[in-house]
Amino acid sequence: MSSNIKIPKFCQYCGQAFVAQTTTTRYCSKTCNSRHYKQKKREEKVQAALQQEMNTPSQMEQMQTLQTLPIKVGNHVNLREKEFLSVQEAADLVGASRWTIQRMIKREQIKVGKLGRRTIIPRTEIDNLFK
Ligand SMILES: [Zn+2]
Repeated sequence: MSSNIKIPKFCQYCGQAFVAQTTTTRYCSKTCNSRHYKQKKREEKVQAALQQEMNTPSQMEQMQTLQTLPIKVGNHVNLREKEFLSVQEAADLVGASRWTIQRMIKREQIKVGKLGRRTIIPRTEIDNLFK
């Protein structure tokens, strides 16, 4: 007599109360069943589209990333590989002003070489500042 069971349920699609013949019935009608199925498919598509949009940063975000990136990052890498630096480069490397570097040179906190009128700072001198 299992086919005669009657289970009061609410349709998962339209929310109407109905009497289900089996425990697995979730909809009041076939129409609701297929409509809900289609709706879920549609939602899945929307979700997938949203997900994709989240993964590919918008142009706005890309521009913001570029703007917030420290401009000197590339330079620093290069400066770190250089044996000799100009006053400006040394300043860039430690994030100080060139006047600070020049003051330190005057106080002989940084030993420099001269190449004509140019001041050459061995990078080791900069490293030594932090020892
Ligand atoms: Zn229904």
